[in-house]
Amino acid sequence: RSTSAGSSSSTARSAALIERARSVTPGGVNSPVRAFRAVGGTPRFIASAEGPWLTDVDGNRYVDLICSWGPMILGHRHPSVLSAVTEAAGKGFSFGTPSENEVALASEIVDRVEPLEQVRLVSSGTEATMSALRLARGATGRSKVVKFAGCYHGHVDALLASAGSGLATFALPDSAGVPDSSAGETIVLPYNDVAAVEAAFAEHGDEIACVITEASPGNMGVVPPEPGLTEALRRITRAHGALLISDEVMTGFRCSASGWYGLEGPYDGGAPDLFTFGKVMGGGFPAAAFGGRADLMGHLAPDGPVYQAGTLSGNPVATAAGLATLKGCTPEVYARLDTVAHSIADAAHTELSAAGVPHTIQWAGSMFSVFFREGAVRTYDDAKSQDTAAFSRFFNAMLDQGVHLPPSAYEAWFVSASHNDDAVEAVLQALPAAARAAS
Ligand code: PLP
Repeated sequence: RSTSAGSSSSTARSAALIERARSVTPGGVNSPVRAFRAVGGTPRFIASAEGPWLTDVDGNRYVDLICSWGPMILGHRHPSVLSAVTEAAGKGFSFGTPSENEVALASEIVDRVEPLEQVRLVSSGTEATMSALRLARGATGRSKVVKFAGCYHGHVDALLASAGSGLATFALPDSAGVPDSSAGETIVLPYNDVAAVEAAFAEHGDEIACVITEASPGNMGVVPPEPGLTEALRRITRAHGALLISDEVMTGFRCSASGWYGLEGPYDGGAPDLFTFGKVMGGGFPAAAFGGRADLMGHLAPDGPVYQAGTLSGNPVATAAGLATLKGCTPEVYARLDTVAHSIADAAHTELSAAGVPHTIQWAGSMFSVFFREGAVRTYDDAKSQDTAAFSRFFNAMLDQGVHLPPSAYEAWFVSASHNDDAVEAVLQALPAAARAAS
């Protein structure tokens, strides 16, 4: 029988696996944050998951507050998703031809997010933003791109500048291996700073293809746009003939049934031109999308000159998972996410306050993060001023008590609709000691 992790529970098999993994994979992991470099200790190798619970290879059980960094909104192995995936896999794994689920998933997305007329399916959020960027450049005939410090849009060359969590966790300003010819076309501006956007457009207005922004950033921790920011970006880009790309890879279908747009839109002055999605819409499988008005999407091959393609794009198993997940995202699911998130965040606030640990909790719908510093966080510089050592102590104390947070101070805490009262109670039980450890 699985046990909740305790300080005496063994992590011997995870320790042996990470040792072995390091010999065959850089850092022993396939995505850097999983290496636990910022928080120390042994990354847990997860063997299985059910609902809100993870079980590692040593048999320790954890409440999952990573949820695969967003996708597992219904919880692990949700019965309707599992049966859709099993049924799809039973019919074939990949055809390299059109298949019916692609149409169903694209329609589901287009129906939910009102400004969308067409989407194209890809396999990762990185591919979605990379392709949206190429489309924006192809459609405008311009090359410069504006992004905001602290926003992460995947590991696209041109967008790996001041890119939030992944780089902040390792104290990297930018990535090596990105040539000036790529990054030199990127203008990085402080988030929530309309004057900086006005100034950049005053200087480079006729060279800028697009502004890309996280719809509501979650990759420097949760830092929502100040009221009017999105409208201002719309107004400025439109005045200069540039496009606005709203990256909803994290917020899409999580903040509401139609993402951040569903909470903040429609906007005075019009919608963003292009949107990107990932995470929830793949239900834990590799599926992502970018989309917008049909006239813009018409620039893509085969109708237009902007090339974009993928061997596994619209994969039948991934689209079945995504479709079942989106269909499962009912109003009750969003209500439960809200309840769970507020129970956990309220208790974290109470316990951190009792332990005298400076902190701020910020929200985007039911998406939240806890910054280990006092005062509102509006920019990447604000986010970086938190006490990451305090977070690490907190993280490890939670892990020892059977709660697996994202191993970085710059991440949202993800919950699912499967987080039942037992799972929430297990988090609440762990918080007092973790808050004391952080103090
Ligand atoms: N855009 C945003 C807002 C993200 O949060 C992420 C991933 O965290 C990406 C893009 C990249 O997605 P992927 O990791 O699927 O490539």
